[in-house]
Amino acid sequence: MKRFPLASQIFVAMVLGAGIGISLNIGVSAGRVDPDTAAMVAGVGQWMGKVFLTLLNMVVVPLIFASLVSSITSVGKGGGNLKRLGFQTIAYYMLTSALAIVTGLIMVNLINPGEGVDYAALMAAAHADGATPPAPPAVAEGGVGAVLADIVYRLIPTNVVQVATSNRTILGLIFFAVSFGVAAVHTGGEHLERISGFFTSVYEVMITLTNGILMVAPFGIGGYLLFVTATTGVALGGGLLLYMVTVFLALCMHVITLSLLLWLVTQRNPIAYAYTMKEALVTAFSTASSSGTLPLTMQCVRKGGVSEQVTSFTLPLGATLNMDGTALYEAVAVLFVAQMLGDLDLGQQVVVAVTALLASVGAAGIPHAGTVMMVIVMQAVGLPTESVLVILAVDRVLDMCRTTVNVWSDAVGAAIIGAVEDGS
Ligand code: ASP
Repeated sequence: MKRFPLASQIFVAMVLGAGIGISLNIGVSAGRVDPDTAAMVAGVGQWMGKVFLTLLNMVVVPLIFASLVSSITSVGKGGGNLKRLGFQTIAYYMLTSALAIVTGLIMVNLINPGEGVDYAALMAAAHADGATPPAPPAVAEGGVGAVLADIVYRLIPTNVVQVATSNRTILGLIFFAVSFGVAAVHTGGEHLERISGFFTSVYEVMITLTNGILMVAPFGIGGYLLFVTATTGVALGGGLLLYMVTVFLALCMHVITLSLLLWLVTQRNPIAYAYTMKEALVTAFSTASSSGTLPLTMQCVRKGGVSEQVTSFTLPLGATLNMDGTALYEAVAVLFVAQMLGDLDLGQQVVVAVTALLASVGAAGIPHAGTVMMVIVMQAVGLPTESVLVILAVDRVLDMCRTTVNVWSDAVGAAIIGAVEDGS
């Protein structure tokens, strides 16, 4: 008997999950469904989603380490130019994140979603909901310089085992993996051969494991959608709707920019490429975690024909360093708050752009990380950090959208670097 294809299973699960969640949401508002029953069903959906995300997270640390060491050692062994690959990758990431921020700033200045919005009323509503501001990252209140210093500091792990125990500290793990790979290349000889062979095998095994985890993707993705649609309130009054539209439109414009870049540099059809990426994109959307999605992103990009070396080098870096959606969102959100409280002049908007870029690099690929890092951007231009509260109510939905853009940007980056580097 022919198996029902996975993509169709995921699609059916998404429709079912969202259908049940929306019905529960409407039923509770209309007084036809008992709120406790709805909360219980939503809780089951969330549990299903979490099981899937936890399985993916289980693979992330060994996958990142093995894939970076495997790619660096194989480029090194083959006499390839590691510096060029590294430079191209970082330059591409910074360039597209900067483009994303400029798009966000243009849109937020054009649409002006914060103008005339009652800040005090939004704040009062947030307090009434019992929202508490996320704990700000431990960065000194010293502006752009302090943020940069903090990122460099967090890049270097004091304890390798410790950075491997949390998806919040992947930056440190990446630094160690790259250093380890480069050191192996410099050691050379039989040691390089052994290290390279071993970590390439670990990498391949992790990809096989990811294939297995994919079998539960329909449950996880459907479950998360059920949970989000059942529990997200439609409290879009008070000016938040226009803010959401601004973020959404800006994200769509950036997706178009990236797709054009993809087409121009690689001559790939962006729609066909996005179709190859579908499992990764819907997982990013439902889980709001680009780090958790990484195993699937790698698998899909491989399927898309990008070379092994480029996939295994660019994507682990991209999942942490390259967050176009997050960078864009931070710029729009900070400007939205600023518009409610007065405005920011061009100079201050440049500070927002630079700190948003750094904050996106420093943000972990987990849900709401961008919102936590936003506090840094607010501090840099003297906005009250507590004002992050006013946008928390709609953050999950926007997080789902920006995480999808983060993953699309990584996938496009891998294809572009693959085309430039080795014609794959
Ligand atoms: N959730 C995003 C991600 O995992 C980060 C963010 O909160 O912007 O890519």
